Amino acid sequence: MARVIVVGAGLGGVSVAFELREKLPKQAQITVVGEGAEFNFVPSNPWVALGTRKRDDVVMPIGDFFSKRNIEFSPAGVKEIHAAENRLTLNDGSQHDYDYLVLCTGPKLDFAAVEGAGPEAGGSQSICTVDHAVTSHQDFLKLCEAPGPVVIGALPGASCFGPAYEYVLTLEYELRKRKIRDQVPITFVTPEPYIGHMGLGGVGDSKGLMEHKFREHGIKWICNAKVTKLAEGHCHFDEMNEQGEVAKQHQLDYVHSMFLPPFKGSPAVAAVPELCNPKGFVITDKHQRSPKYPNIFAAGVCVAIPPIEATPVPVGAPKTGLMIESMTTAIVSNIEVHEAGGTDFVEPTLSALCLADMGNTGAAFLAVPQNPPRNRNWTGSGRWVHWAKVAFEKYFMYKIRRGTSEPVYERVSLRFMGVERLKSKK
Ligand SMILES: Cc1cc2nc3c(=O)[nH]c(=O)nc-3n(C[C@H](O)[C@H](O)[C@H](O)COP(=O)(O)OP(=O)(O)OC[C@H]3O[C@@H](n4cnc5c(N)ncnc54)[C@H](O)[C@@H]3O)c2cc1C
Repeated sequence: MARVIVVGAGLGGVSVAFELREKLPKQAQITVVGEGAEFNFVPSNPWVALGTRKRDDVVMPIGDFFSKRNIEFSPAGVKEIHAAENRLTLNDGSQHDYDYLVLCTGPKLDFAAVEGAGPEAGGSQSICTVDHAVTSHQDFLKLCEAPGPVVIGALPGASCFGPAYEYVLTLEYELRKRKIRDQVPITFVTPEPYIGHMGLGGVGDSKGLMEHKFREHGIKWICNAKVTKLAEGHCHFDEMNEQGEVAKQHQLDYVHSMFLPPFKGSPAVAAVPELCNPKGFVITDKHQRSPKYPNIFAAGVCVAIPPIEATPVPVGAPKTGLMIESMTTAIVSNIEVHEAGGTDFVEPTLSALCLADMGNTGAAFLAVPQNPPRNRNWTGSGRWVHWAKVAFEKYFMYKIRRGTSEPVYERVSLRFMGVERLKSKK
């Protein structure tokens, strides 16, 4: 009976593992290899950084929930993938054979791309992991004690912009609540060609909506920005013109900064010959399968998706929850088809839903499909976005506790918008 190993116990890995358990025969052997014993609901990390959530609210030990569902789990992490031999070596030295490998290894954070960037170098805070968010919260508390200028944004080559918008607008709300907003000039510095581009070429009137929010909340912004150095309270960056030439050089002082980094692929995955693009993201066909190794599938941030358009400063395309769920469902279906010896493989819809909380309100963007031209281009805003984000968090944690494959992102909002996860069989 089939042996399936899922690598990565994040949003994608958990979803695919429970769905495999539901859909494959009982005898199928399903194993998840994570890096550590905890699951982190990454979309809630900005709230940890601002103190509206504690670390324990967004993290849970995951092993017991897998074993209840007859899914084996190792927290050892994958050291090496011997793709030609269908075998893995874990960091504890153990070897595991597989018939199918599902990679859900998320991003490796490439702070090294910019001098001084990231919490280790010390030039900027991060919300990408829960531990980064905990450290960032300490820095936020210092800001509250000694207010001063703040710089928030994304580094060149970043692909995940929603959390930067969410962080800057929620931070602004928290400062107003504490009545110290008047002592904190805020600047948003981004490689995007315009506010609301989000690596998606904009969604509906996301430009108008986000510019309006920034104006309404007194947040300045600079686009086409190529940050070159973050150190000792100074953010150095070049503002590029449309030809990609330096139009102006800037230096902004800050007492608190948070930047989303560019992403790369997980080193163990990137090292497999002919599996990945030069950045280490897994190349897949339209069925989420590696063209080189047909028994290797990939879902989530680790998948190679080309940028939507050329921009003066490079920006990548985001991979968000709704898209990831559609990838994991397609993979499970395609493994079932493969096991049955069929050829009716399915494709994920690859739509994008971004919800950006702003403290007491929020903005939502729906792009179906993600790449233009689109069948649906929709933006909305209101207090309901904040509550929808809370619902995603609670629902996803509940899904893990119950060990089910429920498509959280689709259920919470898209049911009412009629978006399907899978394209018809091909
Ligand atoms: C701060 C932030 C906020 C976001 N907010 C939203 C949001 O509100 N809505 C939305 O739709 N999307 C959001 N996203 C985008 C996306 O949904 C998340 O990044 C999501 O967590 C991606 O899921 P994933 O499974 O691809 O990666 P992850 O959830 O990051 O999981 C990958 C896992 O693989 C593990 N791993 C890596 N290498 C190995 C290895 N060699 N062996 C074993 N395990 C390994 C990692 O440790 C990690 O646990 C956000 C992203 C960020 C960074």
